[in-house]
Amino acid sequence: MAAGVLDRLRRIVGPAHVLTEQDDGDLSAWTLDWRRRYRGRALAVVRPGNTEEVAAVLAMASELGVAVVPQGGNTGLVGGGVPDASGTQMLLSMQRLNRIRGIDAANLTLTAEAGCILQAVQQAAEAAGLMFPLSLAAEGSCTIGGNLATNAGGTQVLRWGNARELCLGLEFVTSQGRIWHGLTGLRKDNTGYDLRDLFIGSEGTLGVITAATMKLAPQPAAVCTALVACADLPAAVALLELSRRMLGDGLSGFEVMNVLSRRLVARHFPNLPQPLSDASWSVLLEYSSSESEAHGQGRFETLLGAALERGIALDAVIAASLAQTRALWHLRESIPLAQAEEGPNIKHDISLPVSAVPSFVAECDAALQCGWPGVGVVDFGHLGDGNLHYNVQAPSGTPGSEFLRAHEKAINASVFDLVARHGGSFSAEHGIGALKRDELATRKDPVALALMRSIKSALDPLGILNPGRVL
Ligand code: FAD
Ligand code: ZN
Repeated sequence: MAAGVLDRLRRIVGPAHVLTEQDDGDLSAWTLDWRRRYRGRALAVVRPGNTEEVAAVLAMASELGVAVVPQGGNTGLVGGGVPDASGTQMLLSMQRLNRIRGIDAANLTLTAEAGCILQAVQQAAEAAGLMFPLSLAAEGSCTIGGNLATNAGGTQVLRWGNARELCLGLEFVTSQGRIWHGLTGLRKDNTGYDLRDLFIGSEGTLGVITAATMKLAPQPAAVCTALVACADLPAAVALLELSRRMLGDGLSGFEVMNVLSRRLVARHFPNLPQPLSDASWSVLLEYSSSESEAHGQGRFETLLGAALERGIALDAVIAASLAQTRALWHLRESIPLAQAEEGPNIKHDISLPVSAVPSFVAECDAALQCGWPGVGVVDFGHLGDGNLHYNVQAPSGTPGSEFLRAHEKAINASVFDLVARHGGSFSAEHGIGALKRDELATRKDPVALALMRSIKSALDPLGILNPGRVL
């Protein structure tokens, strides 16, 4: 059967765009995930060039019962975008659907194909004098389709919302190969069930996103950035409250990093400047002002003055140039890369009510030290959204992979139980994929799970789309 499938695929997308291990050798760029935790094998890597080809591939897969794993930039962190080890799943790479279809400046919208790299979308908006405000450390390689399929968050969520809130319309191919033309730029459209919101965050299990119409925003007149040292996490939360009060809607970034995350970056990227590196907690604060540069700077400095005066902040450095701004963001964005260099660790992407973050961290740190003395917690993330990346590292001297094998399950249970007790979620922005499927099955409300299964079987009755992921 495989040979017949490959022939039909070659006829649909062209022979150059069907890759197999046999003919093309190493396919690990598509079959090994970013964290190197999931190494699969693909029946073939199929690279359609337009929506009609995606539809034809899915119609064929549906007819023959071949499983399809959609993939964008392969930067996902939960093992949702790589095939399993069976060698029977087709990897559908969206990378060739990479055209910006148009920008409507008056409507503040941009329409892009799913395989457009996020950074290319940002640049296209910028070239039109506007801004696309989704931003994350993987933006040089993740795709807009992947961002929507995972409902990605990132560093601008507290001002602009996550990928879902930035999306107005979708073009989508169903498991049977039918195309839904939903590329609207409307802000209001109450015509029945909201399919767009159903497909966003569905992680390739309900169909394939081929294009999207996204919201743009005017570029700010001034962007002010500072790194602030705080004595502890309650002080960082107090700084968030004060910033919201004094900067209003202009507060566009509020990231925290504990001292261990800063040390890890210093170890693996020794050339990065490290201001305020001893702080127990550092806050990366960003303010985007629609007023003039001078007005923005004035408000920002008033806020930092008030924070220092009240003892909420211990120290602060304000970026004085674009290069300094980039260097401060680089510190924050290098943490996941430094962790990848350091070796395997147990990642938790959790969200909590902001008010509960300090008590959760205090209790969870204590519980971990009690159960697994010597573990390190690399704790950083988007405090403005109540979203922490609370990542646990093996005690020094213990190999990470060994520690993971022996303790990951029990550590996850410990962390996620405490998250639940504090009213939080065990997956804030990275999704479920393969990694958290069992957690979803045991921790999600049973009625919600039953409804999700009904939706899945209505939209993908043969179960060919990303099987074994999410549900
Ligand atoms: P992939 O990894 O290729 O796929 C992810 C999932 O989406 C898979 O389930 C796949 O099947 C599905 N999928 C992909 N494309 C489509 C499509 N067109 N149609 C249907 N399904 C599709 N995430 C955040 O939310 N916030 C962050 O701050 C953040 N920071 C990150 C930093 C680093 C260094 C890295 C490596 C990742 C980070 N991520 C972050 C993870 C995030 O999920 C991805 O970066 C991004 O959203 C995934 O896009 P992708 O194109 O790489 O998708
Ligand atoms: Zn994040």
